[in-house]
Amino acid sequence: MNEFELIQHFFTRSACAQGGGNISLGIGDDCALLQIPEGHHCAVSTDSLVSGVHFPKDSPPFLLGQRALAVAVSDLAAMAAKPIGFTLAITLEQIDSPWLQAFSEGLSAMAQHCAIALIGGDTTRGPLAMTLTVMGAVPANQALLRSGAQVGDLLCVSGPLGAAAAALPLVLGQVTSNTVPAEVQQQLLAAYWTPQPQLELGQWLQGKASAALDISDGLLADCGHIAKASNVALQIEQARVPIAEAAQMIAGDVDALQCALSGGDDYQLAFTIAASYLESLQQQFTDVRVIGQVCVGQGVQLLDSAGQSIKSAHLGYQHFQQG
Ligand code: ADP
Ligand code: MG
Repeated sequence: MNEFELIQHFFTRSACAQGGGNISLGIGDDCALLQIPEGHHCAVSTDSLVSGVHFPKDSPPFLLGQRALAVAVSDLAAMAAKPIGFTLAITLEQIDSPWLQAFSEGLSAMAQHCAIALIGGDTTRGPLAMTLTVMGAVPANQALLRSGAQVGDLLCVSGPLGAAAAALPLVLGQVTSNTVPAEVQQQLLAAYWTPQPQLELGQWLQGKASAALDISDGLLADCGHIAKASNVALQIEQARVPIAEAAQMIAGDVDALQCALSGGDDYQLAFTIAASYLESLQQQFTDVRVIGQVCVGQGVQLLDSAGQSIKSAHLGYQHFQQG
């Protein structure tokens, strides 16, 4: 099988490449052509995943395909964009048909879930790596930026945090599976391998939230980006941070709170919004939690139940990784 047959077999003919309303021309020519609806901006984001850095070398290919696309589409959700298409630049060590078949199926499953289509890419030989570029449409001037947080707004997250980070020892094979109940393992691995881009919530927040991003590097670090871009301080009440149940259930192996505060990979949204929206927001999105507020100042402050600032020195990334 040569490069062109490979592209044809595993990508051009895959379920994820079968069009979509906004795709005037898909895979096969020098460029794809997208129809951006009138009065909309095209939102574009790229993510690279390198074997041995962003995922273990022997990762299950179906799950890898799912996760690679979910992580990329999450950026569209965070900007309130509606997915249109994505490109896949993939570097392969060799042509391994069963691997490619499973990868392409995982990609297709997530593509269908997110209503996004594969529109092109590049295929090269080398150490396993992939770069996905996602494109979506958002009404002009309605994208959710990091820079709009207003003093007095509430700080919210879209759902429980920490499961993906707590899953890391399992993903990396550092924990023998018989020390963790099968059901908990399943929940943790699902959180890591199948993050759910918060597309519906992102689009609901359009014109309502003042700032938003998806949590990829950890709640505290990512809230720091909103604080900086908006030139405000974000106060987080530690007791209000929702910790994923599965993370709490293996608390012997990892520190669940630590995972929720500093672990990444959950791809929930963090956003700031006026309190007047809270009731209708939580009615429709029942996992949304208020975790703090926007204040005058700079940076992120973590508060204990007495409202005292908790030193963040012991909240570093390495802390839970040793678990
Ligand atoms: P060019 O040399 O003009 O860049 P290629 O020969 O690399 O074109 O690719 C041919 C067609 O196949 C293009 O439409 C390209 O977008 C598509 N393609 C290549 N690799 C992939 C891939 N991994 N996934 C999806 N489409 C791909
Ligand atoms: Mg090429």
